[in-house]
Amino acid sequence: VSSGTAPVQLTGNPFVDTGLAAAAALAEGAGLYDIHDLTLDHLRQVFGDGSELVSRNKRLKSFTMLFTSNSLLKNPAIKPTVTREKAYLAVLAKLLDSVGGETVAERCNSCGNPRTIDLSPLCSDALAGVVGIKDQPRAVGRDWFPLAGSLGSDAQALPSATQPVSLCAKCLFAVHFLPLAMILFEGRLAVFQCTSVEFWYELVRDIANEVIARVQAGTVETLGSKEGTRAVSRRLLSLFDRLQKQKKLMSLPPSTRLDVWLFTNSGASADCQLETIPNTALTFLSEAVRSGLTHEVDHLLQSEGRREYPFMRCIIEARDYGSLYPRQKWNGVSPKLFSLYQTIVLGRTPRALQAAHLLAGKMESGLGPGERARLRREESFQDRGNRSRAQQCLSDLVAQGNFNHSIYLEMFPPEDGPGVLVGYDGWNLLRFYLHHIDDAAFATPMEADSSDVQSARIDEIRFYAAVIYEDLVGNLGVSGFRSAVLARMSRGRLGSAWLRQQFLRLAETNEGFSWNHWQQLCCLRDGRTFVGELLFQLRLLWIQWLHVGHPQTVSAPPWVPASGLPQAMESTLREELQRYCEGRGLARLHRDVLVRLRQRAIGLDWFSRRLVAEVADARGLTDTEWEDFLNDDEGSPILGDRLFQLHLYSANFYRAGLTESQQEAVS
Ligand SMILES: [Zn+2]
Repeated sequence: VSSGTAPVQLTGNPFVDTGLAAAAALAEGAGLYDIHDLTLDHLRQVFGDGSELVSRNKRLKSFTMLFTSNSLLKNPAIKPTVTREKAYLAVLAKLLDSVGGETVAERCNSCGNPRTIDLSPLCSDALAGVVGIKDQPRAVGRDWFPLAGSLGSDAQALPSATQPVSLCAKCLFAVHFLPLAMILFEGRLAVFQCTSVEFWYELVRDIANEVIARVQAGTVETLGSKEGTRAVSRRLLSLFDRLQKQKKLMSLPPSTRLDVWLFTNSGASADCQLETIPNTALTFLSEAVRSGLTHEVDHLLQSEGRREYPFMRCIIEARDYGSLYPRQKWNGVSPKLFSLYQTIVLGRTPRALQAAHLLAGKMESGLGPGERARLRREESFQDRGNRSRAQQCLSDLVAQGNFNHSIYLEMFPPEDGPGVLVGYDGWNLLRFYLHHIDDAAFATPMEADSSDVQSARIDEIRFYAAVIYEDLVGNLGVSGFRSAVLARMSRGRLGSAWLRQQFLRLAETNEGFSWNHWQQLCCLRDGRTFVGELLFQLRLLWIQWLHVGHPQTVSAPPWVPASGLPQAMESTLREELQRYCEGRGLARLHRDVLVRLRQRAIGLDWFSRRLVAEVADARGLTDTEWEDFLNDDEGSPILGDRLFQLHLYSANFYRAGLTESQQEAVS
């Protein structure tokens, strides 16, 4: 038998460790404050004659959820109830006595202790003195240890678990303190594990103290019943509050996260699932408390609607939380809380929030009360007119040097391609700050020239912006560029047709302008063309560059050039263009074909004359092949796309030929 003063080690099994932590919480009266100092003597002391533990466990509702109604304490076949209680107490006392004196040479499945107990003889021995109990073989099942050998759990899926469960006396004993530390999370029992033992113990200790106080006051319902996720979030909030008041664990240890084992031990539905409360969620709660926002968060939790996606779920899953935002008569949370949530839980930059605040102020200035109220409405930015007003304000801010493309993308993070899209979240930020123009405060003024955000998507956009900008400013001059491009853009006059013209012209001299590049940039996943967002970002970059000069050109995106043409069409076109050049030379291809295509002096007819064979068996395509080529899979005509592809391929062919002849000239 081990010495009573030797520490009782934690095991790594969440059920056993939570039981030990509840026992340690009971031992606080005896001066125990650190779970690492827990000894067998402490366990003996808090167990005493066992009557208090039995009296609590028989009343606590969580006991049956934990140990089923077949357990010795609850088995209806054993009558009267006092017999059950005596039997239960006798076995617990025997288990405690056996800690360190186990005799079976099997490792404990929970803590790895080299020896375990044989439950059957231990029970026979313990129950010999209890009148009215049948002596029968007993095995460790779910009535002795949660989820022991339960069907549907991973324990049963593993080959080693086909053996009966082996457990040591300490593990079997400790779990009987579990009812003191139970809390429900979304209706399921929850036990916690944590990267920081100190933090974990403080949490379990708080739960145990609350359960003990409640049972003393006659409340035996499990904590968190009918509260969804709220019991756990409020518990964590009050834990941080207590820790900061007591100046304990003042800063959460780095990368602390909390694992929550959610389990059911009853009937056929016995099961368990692991949920992680990430570091960001814990940091947010801790920082909210530190910033004096405990009351506000608590109020938010208390007034959470039944249908609302729960706060706790949102901070676990790093989702935005609906009640942060203004809605009907609710003005949203305080800017301080909003900012903490956005930066810690959602990872937004402080600059994105500042940008939204700046833009909100710009949008509101000069508006009358009625217009302001309309702009602040919940559905305000579903309206295209309001969105384009915001975009105009953004362009003005960029022109004044107070904003730039990088800040824009911090506020409206780009979504994955193909196609250029940004999320809707930026509009929500803007809407929040429209309600908080005066009460939001930022520590430092926003820097419009601080380091740029880097991402492949941004480089792609910058590449096209730069190539088009150099070309157009070169051709039109700055003032021409302002009037023919920027002014028309601000009136929404330039669209995908204009952008295609730029592609067709630039393909003659630049890499990165094939059909595939067009698709990556201008077509969404479903194939639809969408250039609205791309054009707006080009506009921002161009205004910015006119203001501050443009940076070094980035290289073309690493997309593989592709023509989008059927293979037979592509090879026929290539042969035809080669023949054309052999006969008349590259310069004529440019002057007589590419330039005239751009001027729309020639079009699909020119290609059809060149590519369709006049007589059968001659080289070239048949009439049917040509007709099929002009329709999509559903038979709808796609003349515009086809002409664009043929023209774009020809322009790229010309550029390749030009490069080749230049290289020949050099060598
Ligand atoms: Zn063990």
